[in-house]
Amino acid sequence: MNLPDIAIDRVVLGEHKTLKIYIHSTLEGTHCHRCGQPIDHAYGHGQEIKLRHLPLGEYKIVLFLRPKRYQCRSCEGHPTTSQTLFLYPASLYDERLRAAHAAGTGEQHA
Ligand SMILES: [Zn+2]
Repeated sequence: MNLPDIAIDRVVLGEHKTLKIYIHSTLEGTHCHRCGQPIDHAYGHGQEIKLRHLPLGEYKIVLFLRPKRYQCRSCEGHPTTSQTLFLYPASLYDERLRAAHAAGTGEQHA
């Protein structure tokens, strides 16, 4: 695995030789999806995200990412933003991803 800034919570061997790997980021903070300011006021965790990974030998690998959530105290309503984009190179951080991230929906692929 070549994922930077990742810590593994646990590894579960599932059916059909599927390895389920539960991970979280070791980085702190993200940027508010509304105002773009750096925020680091922790606000629980977002919904778990399932990411497919390349097979390892005869095993299928599935990553489960538990994104940290952060709250912006500058914006009205104190919106929260999930920290998920650390898996993407900066070049992939385009408007489409930004929109998906802001909406907090959709399966995202590593
Ligand atoms: Zn904000």
